[in-house]
Amino acid sequence: MEAKRIELKGVVQGGGFRPFVYTIAHNYGIKGWVLNNSQGVFIHAEGETEDLERFLAELFNNPPGRAIIKEKKVLDEKPQGFPEFTIVESQSGGEQEVLISPDLAMCSQCFEDVTTPGNRRYKYAFTNCTNCGPRFTIIKGVPYDRTKTTMAEFPMCSICSAEYHDPFNRRFHAQPNACPQCGPQVVIFDHSGKEIPEATPHELLYNGFILAVKGLGGYHLVCDAKNSRAVNRLRESKKREAKPFAVMAKNIEVVKKYCYLTPQEEKLLTGPQAPIVILPRKKRYLPSSLAPGVNTLGVMLPYAPLHLLLFRDELELLVMTSGNISSNPLIYQDDEAFSQLKEIADFFVIHNREIYNRCDDSVVKVINGEPQLFRRARGYVPLPVEIPEQPSVFACGGDLKSTFCLTKGNKAFLSQHMGDLDNYLNLQEYILTAQRMQEYLAIEPQAVVIDLHPRYNSHKWGREWDKPVIEVQHHHAHLASCLADNGLNEKVLGVICDGTGYGTDGNIWGMEFLLGDFSGFERLAHLEYVPLPGGDAAIKEPLRMSVSYLYKYLREKGLLETQKYLAPLKEEEIRLFMQQIDLKVNCPLTSSCGRLFDAVSGLLGVCTKVNYEGQAAIELEEMADRTVKGSGYSFEIIKGNKVPYVISTEKMWPELLENISRGIKAQEIAAKFHWTLAQIITQTCVNLKSYLSSPKIALSGGVMQNKLLIETLVPMLKEHGFEPLLHRQVPANDGGLSLGQAVIGGRLRKCV
Ligand code: ZN
Ligand code: ZN
Ligand code: FE
Repeated sequence: MEAKRIELKGVVQGGGFRPFVYTIAHNYGIKGWVLNNSQGVFIHAEGETEDLERFLAELFNNPPGRAIIKEKKVLDEKPQGFPEFTIVESQSGGEQEVLISPDLAMCSQCFEDVTTPGNRRYKYAFTNCTNCGPRFTIIKGVPYDRTKTTMAEFPMCSICSAEYHDPFNRRFHAQPNACPQCGPQVVIFDHSGKEIPEATPHELLYNGFILAVKGLGGYHLVCDAKNSRAVNRLRESKKREAKPFAVMAKNIEVVKKYCYLTPQEEKLLTGPQAPIVILPRKKRYLPSSLAPGVNTLGVMLPYAPLHLLLFRDELELLVMTSGNISSNPLIYQDDEAFSQLKEIADFFVIHNREIYNRCDDSVVKVINGEPQLFRRARGYVPLPVEIPEQPSVFACGGDLKSTFCLTKGNKAFLSQHMGDLDNYLNLQEYILTAQRMQEYLAIEPQAVVIDLHPRYNSHKWGREWDKPVIEVQHHHAHLASCLADNGLNEKVLGVICDGTGYGTDGNIWGMEFLLGDFSGFERLAHLEYVPLPGGDAAIKEPLRMSVSYLYKYLREKGLLETQKYLAPLKEEEIRLFMQQIDLKVNCPLTSSCGRLFDAVSGLLGVCTKVNYEGQAAIELEEMADRTVKGSGYSFEIIKGNKVPYVISTEKMWPELLENISRGIKAQEIAAKFHWTLAQIITQTCVNLKSYLSSPKIALSGGVMQNKLLIETLVPMLKEHGFEPLLHRQVPANDGGLSLGQAVIGGRLRKCV
């Protein structure tokens, strides 16, 4: 006889873990107990040496599908002669170290339950088990227990209760366990608030209506994606002019009908996170207003049983867009939904289970064979990123695509995507979520980390805390974020290609070659500064950047000669911009890579008015002819005064204009521009080699989500002996900024 004490940390709760331990203990004749408290799962196991070994092997090698063991300890104990193996009831108290599980997409067994006629959960929208279902969105407090979730108000019926208490059952201690007799119910209302008991969601969708559907982390606005009238109507009433709509496909076969799909992308779609995956579209008819200007489609699969009620035979693809108006927060409360969405939705499909934590759908795109998160939310949050042990800090992130990050020991907890903080309602949500996350994690941060930008709301709010404040430069945070994301902290070159970030010289940075780590950075090269005529207004109107670049490098004569390519700008407007630039009126200087994309996109007439962030660059990437390879435009890397090198695109513009005048297709020019940019980056890295002690190059910033650029750049860098690092767990865009701020803040705090 031997005995072991096993301590496990990580997501071991809410993943069917204790029933699993109980079952294998029985299988191998192990006696003892398992219990979980706020610090993790603890097991006392005793039995014959051989049985104990097999028990441990099974425990570590085959944990239930969705449990993640982050830390494990096995200690020798004295056998105590337990007569059986038992599950000890939850203990609360102590330091909270058990991770809260993200929401998990419907598992295959629950899918069977809800699609099998005669099953007591047939068509039941709130079916779940220990392997799937809502978690983070229903949790009000820790440890995770039904009484601390929004399921508390639904007492289990006797059958559900028996499942819940049966250690061999898949629903043993499944906190949100429910059935049609005892659980939440779906109700349908029309837009005036009248209940329509006879309606079925798929019937309404089939007839072209727009529905507001309450899901796991908030409301969706839903319509038949193949019905162009419905799609147009949704676009108009949602005041969303151009940004592509995400869709939900009935099943994986439907995804394959409309999109090209690799096995890796299929795995992402069908996995427990079930994010929106951005896929290349097949040439098959879909309404043009579904995803204008792009050849891709953001697709997800039904991830909650509720979604199955929306489909039927003739209905295979649905628009599934966030239930909000323009850039306001995702709506998750019923009264808000009725008051704000009644002008958009014809009917409301709601239910009586409260959503406690708002959480958008996550968005992923596979780039260079690796999944890259574009938006990190449902399915991922609130799982932490592992970082080196550091003092606890609260990092506020940036104002665009904002997230915050709280650290505790060696874990960095990023919030779900919170939207843009220039919107007051988003800021309110952000502050509320920040309070809750601190409670869940029982963290009292020692310092607050903010972006340098004095006009960011996150900056101002961070300053209101009664705590030491640490300011971090935007692109330094991007660099550190990429390092932390890759589990590294060493001095590397970061190539940050980005839209907007406040620089230490007061200019707007955006294409930066920074040598640094968590403790500091040195700016080694950047794109040559150009004026940003009208400041933020230039971000909305790419042609202002075309004018700025052409005026800088071709002067007045060259600029006016190209006027015909700058339509719809008139000569007076162009002259006005020139004057504005000459007089330096509201013309901050920028080295932004995003604005360089804008200038090219505007000049080619691809995008002259921006309706959503990054549109001009996204459309330029989308239209580029992938078969054009190996040719680019000229550029120069000049010795700088304050930095070793400055990148000039002066020579690119005449060549680009010559191509346009020769009638070369915009698709080809767009491809050549991408190739040029990859060459610029590679050549600059080569020039900087003598400054570098590591071949690793951290690639970060919003532009580093450009699939064509990355897939051109990565092999080029490798050819020159570099080791490019891409993001893996957090977005390369500003959604990942808070992680970088957090590790920099933690590092500086350590030195206090
Ligand atoms: Zn399940
Ligand atoms: Zn029940
Ligand atoms: Fe940025």
